[in-house]
Amino acid sequence: MRLSRYFLPTLKENPAEAQVTSHRLMLRAGMVRQSSAGIYSWLPFGYKVLMNIQRIVEEEQDAMGCHQMLMPTIQAADLWRESGRYDAYGPEMLRIRDRHDRDMLYGPTNEEQITEIFRDAVKSYRDVPSLLYHIQWKFRDEVRPRFGVMRGREFLMKDAYSFDMDDESGRISYNKFFVSYLRIYARLGLKVIPMAADTGPIGGDMSHEFLILAKTGESEIACHKDFLEMDWAEREIDFDSDLQPIVDQFTTKYAATDEKRDLEHESTLGDDLVTARGIEVGHIFHFGTKYSDPLGARVTTADGDEVTVSMGSYGVGVSRLVGAVIEASHDDDGIIWPESIAPFKVGLINLKSGDEACDSACLGMYNDLRKAGIDVLMDDREIRAGGKFADMDLIGLPWQLIAGPRGLKDGMVELKNRATGEREDMSIDSAIAKLTAS
Ligand code: ATP
Ligand code: MG
Repeated sequence: MRLSRYFLPTLKENPAEAQVTSHRLMLRAGMVRQSSAGIYSWLPFGYKVLMNIQRIVEEEQDAMGCHQMLMPTIQAADLWRESGRYDAYGPEMLRIRDRHDRDMLYGPTNEEQITEIFRDAVKSYRDVPSLLYHIQWKFRDEVRPRFGVMRGREFLMKDAYSFDMDDESGRISYNKFFVSYLRIYARLGLKVIPMAADTGPIGGDMSHEFLILAKTGESEIACHKDFLEMDWAEREIDFDSDLQPIVDQFTTKYAATDEKRDLEHESTLGDDLVTARGIEVGHIFHFGTKYSDPLGARVTTADGDEVTVSMGSYGVGVSRLVGAVIEASHDDDGIIWPESIAPFKVGLINLKSGDEACDSACLGMYNDLRKAGIDVLMDDREIRAGGKFADMDLIGLPWQLIAGPRGLKDGMVELKNRATGEREDMSIDSAIAKLTAS
C-alpha cells in the first residue's frame, strides 16, 4: 500500500478525550473514530488489526473442533422471556420495538438464541457434544463507556457454546476452550493468566477469566511468578487427549483479581509472588442446565431416556483485544505491533519522495517485497523526513526499511526493528532477504 493513496488520518496532538494509552494511540494512529459514546467506526488501519485478531481466534477455535456460524444481532424478546432474562438483564440491554409492535433487542450475548437453535435441531445423544461459535457485534448500554474500544457499548465478541450430555463431559469441553484460549493469547504476543471467577448460585470450579498483563491495566492482580514463564504458542496440542494436566498447571498456582486476593496466603509466597495490572480479555463459564432447562433443550440417551443438556459459554473480547494489545505493547513514540497481527509487516520510508532515483529504488523494493507475499506500507508522501519517522513509529509496524539518496547511491538502506530499536545498514538485497526470511 502506498501511504499517499491510503486512508490514515494520523494526529500529532494527543486527543483530550482519551484517558488511557491505547485509546490515545488508536485515535492518533487513525485506527478508529468515535461515532457516539462507546460506539466506533473502524478505519482501514484499525480494521486490519481487528480482522487479524479475528483470524487468529478463528484458527484456534477451528483447531479445537469448534464450528463457526453466525447469529443475528437483533433478537426477539420472547426468547429472553423464556429464560427469564428479559426482565433480569436491566438497562444494559438495548430494547427495540419493530413496526408490528413486537419487542426486539440488540443482543448483549447469545445463550438463549443458540440454545433455541440447538433445541430445535438436536434430539439424540449421537449429536452431542456440540461446540459452536460466532463472532458478532454485541451491544451493552454500559453506564460508563470508556477507555475507547476497551469498554465500548458496541463491541465485537467471539462467543462459543458447548452442549454436553452431562457435567462430566462438559468439563472436557471446558478444558478444550481453556487450552485454546492459552494459545490464542500467546499468538497475540500476550502474557495471559487464567483466574478463577464467580460461578454464582450454580457453584463448581468451572469459571475463569483470562487477564493479560499490562502496566496500564484496569485491575490489580496478584499471581505466582511461574505464570510469567509459560509460553504456549509453539506447543502442539492434541485436543482429543486429556487436557486436565495442562488446565491443572494453570489453576493450582495462586492467581487472583482485586476482589479475590488472599493476603494471608500471599504472605507465604515470598519471592514467588508478583503483583501486576491486568485487563480481562476472555471469560469461560460452565453453567450446566441454567438455560437448557427453562428453554427445554433435551436429548435422548442411548437407553431412550431424556436428559437436559449441560452447557457452557466462552467469550473473547475481540475488539477489546486491539486496545489490550496496545496497552501491553507500546513505548513513548507509539504502538509496537506483534508480527502476528501487525496491519503491515514493513513500513518502507522514502526519505526523498519526488527524487527520481529514490522513488524508483523504493518502488523496486516495494514490488520485491510484495512479490514475496509481504504486506508493505510505503511512505511516499512528499513531506519532511521527520514527519515520516514520527508517523512510522506511531503506527508501530514491526520493521522499518529506510531509504534516502545518500545510502541509495551505494545501494544501501537502513533496517530498523520497531520493538528493539536496533538499526542496521545493509544492502538492498540483504534487507529484502532478511525481511522475506523472518
Ligand atoms: P467486564 O467484566 O469487563 O464487564 P463481562 O464479564 O461483562 O466483562 P463477558 O460477558 O464475560 O464480559 O464477555 C466476554 C468478553 O467480552 C469479556 O471478557 C471482555 O473481553 C469482552 N467485553 C465485555 N464487555 C465489553 C465491553 N463493554 N467492551 C468491549 N469488550 C467487552
Ligand atoms: Mg467477566
